[in-house]
Amino acid sequence: MNICTTVEEMRQLLKPARLANKSIGFVPTMGALHAGHASLITAASKANDITVVSIFVNPTQFAPNEDLDNYPRTFEQDVKLAANCGADIIFKPDVACLYPAGDPTWVEVTGDITKVLCGKSRPIHFRGVTTVVSKLFNIVGPTNAYFGQKDAQQVQIIKKMVRDLMFDIKINAMPIVREEDGLALSSRNAYLSPAERKAALVLSKSLTSALTAFNNGVVNTQQLLNQVIDSIQSEPLAKIDYVEIYQLPDLTACQAELARSNLLAVGVYIGKTRLIDNIILEETNVVDNA
Ligand code: AMP
Repeated sequence: MNICTTVEEMRQLLKPARLANKSIGFVPTMGALHAGHASLITAASKANDITVVSIFVNPTQFAPNEDLDNYPRTFEQDVKLAANCGADIIFKPDVACLYPAGDPTWVEVTGDITKVLCGKSRPIHFRGVTTVVSKLFNIVGPTNAYFGQKDAQQVQIIKKMVRDLMFDIKINAMPIVREEDGLALSSRNAYLSPAERKAALVLSKSLTSALTAFNNGVVNTQQLLNQVIDSIQSEPLAKIDYVEIYQLPDLTACQAELARSNLLAVGVYIGKTRLIDNIILEETNVVDNA
């Protein structure tokens, strides 16, 4: 497996694959890799001739009061995990490589899709994500890119960016990988104390019980939201950032009664750690052409 740190090296290394018309699978990450990332890398390596994984803690998607400096960095372990999952190239640029000096150029998806959910509590976050993902797409030139449904809003925003900017890249959204007890895997789970780790289960539990209610015929949007809010508020270590439902794919407002395909998403502080999780509430008897 190759480890590259510059744009030039990446271009040279990928040139033969491009000339031979080989498919390139790409998995962008911030490192501290876990089984969630592993599922993306494995999917990429199964479906493509070459698999590239980027590891870059992107400063422009963190606000000054957020955890950029403390974000877990475990590069040696990451290399082993990526290699075991079939990665061929790791791209590990430094900040100066992706953000040359001078005023930055931004790629920004506008509209409600970037303003609700995480976009509301982290106003600059998605502009940072779409900017760095565009740069990485231009460097790697993937055929397929892989993103986790764990960051469901990010997936929809990236799909819109790819459509609107005519990137010739297929975006593959992969299911959320969870611990056995239901907690969605996240690099930020490393911040949790044992008591907080237990409390963090309230996210997946509240979402699963909302799904059960929905499957049993509860379609009233507010009733479902209230059920999730009550459940999270019953956990003393949890503080709600948001509990919301939006229609997929563009995260538009829902009617009083849910129809078609909807994203129920939560952002919750467990102690000082902000965790997110989500579930899709989907009418199974309606053909969704969206
Ligand atoms: P990150 O390193 O947190 O930026 O995540 C890199 C990619 O891994 C993103 O597309 C995430 O959505 C995805 N990812 C993170 N956690 C999980 C998970 N538990 N299951 C599936 N994908 C995940």
